[in-house]
Amino acid sequence: MAYKYYNRNRYCRICSGQVKEEDVTYKDPAILKKFMSERGKIKSRNRTGNCAKHQRKVAREIKRARMIGLLPFKVDYYRSKRNRRW
Ligand SMILES: [Zn+2]
Repeated sequence: MAYKYYNRNRYCRICSGQVKEEDVTYKDPAILKKFMSERGKIKSRNRTGNCAKHQRKVAREIKRARMIGLLPFKVDYYRSKRNRRW
């Protein structure tokens, strides 16, 4: 994913309305996945460009979704792509 390149000018996606605030909820893992890495980790603010308030919200909702089993705690990437190093 060429994330690094197409999102050069970063601004909080929730503040700017690209993602609706009410859509960021533990009930909607598809939206939350946008804020997670391929390995299932929460992307840092650095990567997403979220403001502090919304980053906290995203992290909280992802954790909730994990608790009820909608999102994974980690994705075991190593097994599927053996030659990758992390
Ligand atoms: Zn924001």
